[in-house]
Formats: sequence, C-alpha cells, structure tokens
Amino acid sequence: MIEIAIDGTAASGKGTLGKKLSDKYSFPYLDTGLLYRKVAHELIKDNKINTTKLEQTSCDFAMILNFKELKNTNLRTEDVAKLASKIATFPNLRKILNNKQKEFNNSSKKKFGGCILDGRDIGTTILPNADFKFYITASLEIRAKRRLLEKNISFLHENDEKCMLQALMNNMRERDRLDSNRKISPLIPAKDAYVIDTTSINPEELLLKVADIIERKK
Ligand code: C5P
Repeated sequence: MIEIAIDGTAASGKGTLGKKLSDKYSFPYLDTGLLYRKVAHELIKDNKINTTKLEQTSCDFAMILNFKELKNTNLRTEDVAKLASKIATFPNLRKILNNKQKEFNNSSKKKFGGCILDGRDIGTTILPNADFKFYITASLEIRAKRRLLEKNISFLHENDEKCMLQALMNNMRERDRLDSNRKISPLIPAKDAYVIDTTSINPEELLLKVADIIERKK
C-alpha cells in the first residue's frame, strides 16, 4: 500500500500534481486545503466571522463536514482562503480535520491500495510514515500569476491586471507567513521530503520528475 504526501505553498502546482498522480496510479486524491476552506466558507455564509467563539463554531462546522460537498461549493475565493488560513491555527479544529484526513487515507488504502493527500502538514503530521513525501514551491510572483490565470478574467486595462496581481501577491505572502509561523503543524518540508521548485517547470515536467522518483523507489 502506498501513501503519497504532498505539501507546499499555495499555487505551487501541488494540487495539479496530486490530480495527475491520482490519474496515473488510480489512487484517491484529497486536497486537504478544501476542508479548511469549506469550514471558512460556512462561517462566512452563516455570518459567524466575528463571533467570540470562532474556534468552537469552526469545530461545530467541521464535525458535520461532508466530503461530497467539497466539489459543489465555490471554495476558491480569496476571502475564503484568508479565513481558512486564520482558522487553520486552531488546535481543536485541526484535530477534527486531521482525523477526517486519516480516515480518508485508511479507507482509500484498503479499497485502492494507495492514497494521495496534499496540504501543508501531510508529510510532517498526517502521514509521517508516507512512502513518498514531496514539498512543492515556486517564486511568489509566478504563483500569483498562475492564480490570476486560473481566474480567467479579461482585463480592459493593463493597470487593473497589475493591481490584481499585486493584491494576489500580498494575500499569498500573508498566507505563507501565517501558515509557516503558526505553532501547530506549520508549513515546513518534512525532513525526508523531496523539495521541488516549480518556478521554471510546467505541470507535465513536474509529473515526470515525481513519477521518476516514485518508479525508481517502488
Ligand atoms: O491549499 P489551500 O490554499 O486550499 O489551503 C487553504 C488554507 O488551509 C492554507 O492557507 C492553510 O492555512 C490551511 N491548510 C492547512 N493544512 C492543510 C491544508 C490547508 O493548514 N493540510
């Protein structure tokens, strides 16, 4: 049974890599950031952002979180990402979501012989004994450019595009800072992770590199 742990910064290419590996090896793939995003989305939807019991309310939403709903909701907005990063510092919320990730991993391994998880603390906390650990990153500017392309906006003015890119860079920088400096499960490469910089390689080249590592060690 094979466990593949992928960690890294936002828009580094880790999600695309997870999906491509899932297609290649037919193992289920979970983007664990969606769990934090889903809880953040529920808080925003129910107007609970300013509650004094933000951790408890987040936990309440996490307890009833349904994996099937992760696909149906638009969780990819910047507001959701910002709040996800804030609530991801809550130890009790992490405990609940960690258990859900471990359950997904165990049932996927039983049914399909393997599992792929991507996030921030997969190799360090969720799957410390994973067979393969990858830490994917890229320059801040290239990551913001990728996010901008995903948004598929046609700009009328070059200045608007520059402003949007700058705003994305600021958001990502702040999220990297929060994720890397929090006390519990910070974003850091596991000691035994392969660290790959995708600044100047495309998703296909990344897949080739990673698949080569897996094939050589399998
Ligand atoms: O990966 P994504 O950008 O969707 O994650 C949103 C936020 O969720 C991250 O900025 C991080 O704060 C949090 N997260 C986490 N641990 C994970 C996955 C995501 O703390 N395993």
